[in-house]
Amino acid sequence: MQYQVLREKMVEEQVVARGIKDPGVIEALLRVPRHEFVPPADRSSAYADAPVSIGHGQTISQPYMVALMTELLALTGSEKVLEIGTGSGYQTAILSGLCRVVYTIERIEPLLSAARKVWPALGMANIRARLGDGSAGWIEESPFDAIIVTAAAPEALSALAGQLAPGGRMVVPMGDLGGQVLKRILRKQDRFEPEEFCRCVFVPLVGKFGLHANGN
Ligand code: SAH
Repeated sequence: MQYQVLREKMVEEQVVARGIKDPGVIEALLRVPRHEFVPPADRSSAYADAPVSIGHGQTISQPYMVALMTELLALTGSEKVLEIGTGSGYQTAILSGLCRVVYTIERIEPLLSAARKVWPALGMANIRARLGDGSAGWIEESPFDAIIVTAAAPEALSALAGQLAPGGRMVVPMGDLGGQVLKRILRKQDRFEPEEFCRCVFVPLVGKFGLHANGN
């Protein structure tokens, strides 16, 4: 089947049928070629209702999870967004069309260099990426209007929340290795208001403020 057809089916059956409504998010999911972000041998699984392995023990998130997390960021087009855990670069590509600029951090070099080749090929010029430990955020570029963490993070992730601008929001799976709850944390001046959404399972955020200190 044509990738465009698979994408339309993915959006209809996995995303819209489960309640995603933001037209911008839906349009981005229809437009961005998800198969370009998975290893060539796994392209046939790119539009499946599941995470897909991208090597190095990591996965590209399930399409619905990408849609839900992006919708929760409530982007209007003017935001400066930080993503922790670039992975395949697919979530980054979805964000790219919905905000002013995306900063993204990945700790595994081959994943980052693969993503860095795909974005320009798709004409995405508002992505700034760096290699390193994103568990401490990107202090030099803070504050951010929105932060998305695409790896499982511990409950106390204050270093990151502190890099939100007033009115900013952070979407993050919080919990432990066994499972997490998807949360959105809104920053209202010096107050942080958490909201809880669904249960989920992500690969761990490692690093200084992550679930454990190294990738092993
Ligand atoms: N957003 C990605 C999801 C990738 S899975 C996508 O759409 O494909 C989560 C990613 O987080 C993995 O690539 C993993 O290497 C990365 N990661 C985990 N801990 C990290 C850390 N401390 N800093 C930066 N990246 C991290």
